[in-house]
Amino acid sequence: MKKINIILHRNKCIGCGSCVLESPLFFKICKKDGKSILLNSKFKNNIYILKNINIFFLKSLIKAYNVCPVKIIKITKKTKN
Ligand code: SF4
Repeated sequence: MKKINIILHRNKCIGCGSCVLESPLFFKICKKDGKSILLNSKFKNNIYILKNINIFFLKSLIKAYNVCPVKIIKITKKTKN
């Protein structure tokens, strides 16, 4: 089964919340600073990475990608380990 990865460059998030509305299983607004959090991901150098997501979720993630006004959500195909 095909898998995808999501990357979120957090430092440029303006906290609009659109990604949460489109894909609440993956995104949440942080109560401390109002920016988006990519749930269950790894966080390093202000970048969230979540790997090996089932392709089943692609549609809602594409919606989140499309509504993000600063285009900081990236969706990539899983690369070989
Ligand atoms: S849609 Fe983009 S700018 Fe808005 S909260 Fe989500 S990641 Fe941040």
